[in-house]
Amino acid sequence: MDNKKVGVIGAGTMGSGIAQVFAQNGYEVILVDVEQRLIDNGLAAIKKFLDKLVEKGKIDSQSAQETIRRITPNLDLAACSDCGLVVEAVTENVAVKKDIFARLDKLCSPDSILATNTSTISVTLLGAATRRPEKVAGMHFMNPVPLMPLVEVVRGLATADAVIEEIVARSKELGKTPVVVNDSPGFVSNRVLMPMINEAIFCLETGVADREAIDTVMKLGMNHPMGPLALADLIGLDVVLAILEVLYQDLGDPKYRPCPLLRRMVAAGYLGRKTGRGFYDYSRK
Ligand code: NAD
Repeated sequence: MDNKKVGVIGAGTMGSGIAQVFAQNGYEVILVDVEQRLIDNGLAAIKKFLDKLVEKGKIDSQSAQETIRRITPNLDLAACSDCGLVVEAVTENVAVKKDIFARLDKLCSPDSILATNTSTISVTLLGAATRRPEKVAGMHFMNPVPLMPLVEVVRGLATADAVIEEIVARSKELGKTPVVVNDSPGFVSNRVLMPMINEAIFCLETGVADREAIDTVMKLGMNHPMGPLALADLIGLDVVLAILEVLYQDLGDPKYRPCPLLRRMVAAGYLGRKTGRGFYDYSRK
């Protein structure tokens, strides 16, 4: 097992950012997705981000190239078998994530730590899909990963203290600030954030105000750097809906009921920045 080798499963918005920060901090990264096209998109996003850092003089072009070289794409989970840590960042779907944890458990060294970047799914449940629940924890990065300082470290019911300590140490090594929380739907971050975003969408749907007014009230009135509707577009409306569904189902409280307008937007494929249209139009940017 190689402690300087990390597997990242999923090369989407979060997986590509997670791969980038590990690679920038000297780790060898195996980046896995289900299609070459998706890995290529993830690598292109990383390259674009690094190019901007070079343009701004924050890193030199040699270190940008070295970062890219440290990321090895692969379509097979088995490529992660000797990684000391694997961070899963695939689509927010319980069945898909459980299947990945069960497969990683069989493929990886018994000492490897298996972490999930899930926004809401129970870390305890994913741990139970393995024979090593004590080595399963949440390593919840924020979007955009290279810029956001927080890592919410999630302790499942069976997670060992040493595993939490290890994830805290690795997060610090990446220049992040880890905060340890217990396993509960949405943890702290999304338990607090998602009801606010959902309420902003209800305000829009019921005509309390238009999108700019809602976002401006929250930016100027509450000192938020972004309004909730713009933030939902950044997160991805499909991701927002998936998180609200888990909060609604697992906590059983109607206050988490996803706004019908959010469901319609997702059904229409208006997923936010990643599709060029959400509450705002990004097609010309
Ligand atoms: P995304 O849709 O951008 O990317 C998910 C990727 O996972 C896709 O490329 C998909 O092809 C890949 N994938 C699906 N099944 C796979 C499999 N079996 N094997 C390998 N790859 C597979 O999603 P995202 O926004 O990057 O979210 C990923 C995870 O991170 C989710 O659990 C989400 O809740 C969480 N998260 C998202 C945000 C955010 O702001 N988007 C923030 C924090 C955490």
